[in-house]
Amino acid sequence: MTAKKETNSAICWICGKSVELEVCVTDEHGLAVHEVCYTTKTALTEKTRPGNPEQTSLRRQV
Ligand SMILES: [Zn+2]
Repeated sequence: MTAKKETNSAICWICGKSVELEVCVTDEHGLAVHEVCYTTKTALTEKTRPGNPEQTSLRRQV
């Protein structure tokens, strides 16, 4: 048996470093990322995009 550690890790596209699949989280694209990176990115995205109440009300009507 050849121990392939590469199989257990992926590249976090947010920070560009390798992330172990055992401790990673999956973003909305299904890609493995660090939990910290994903949390940071999500927080940044929410700050960049101001609240979108229109979308919410549209969804509620449907
Ligand atoms: Zn990362």
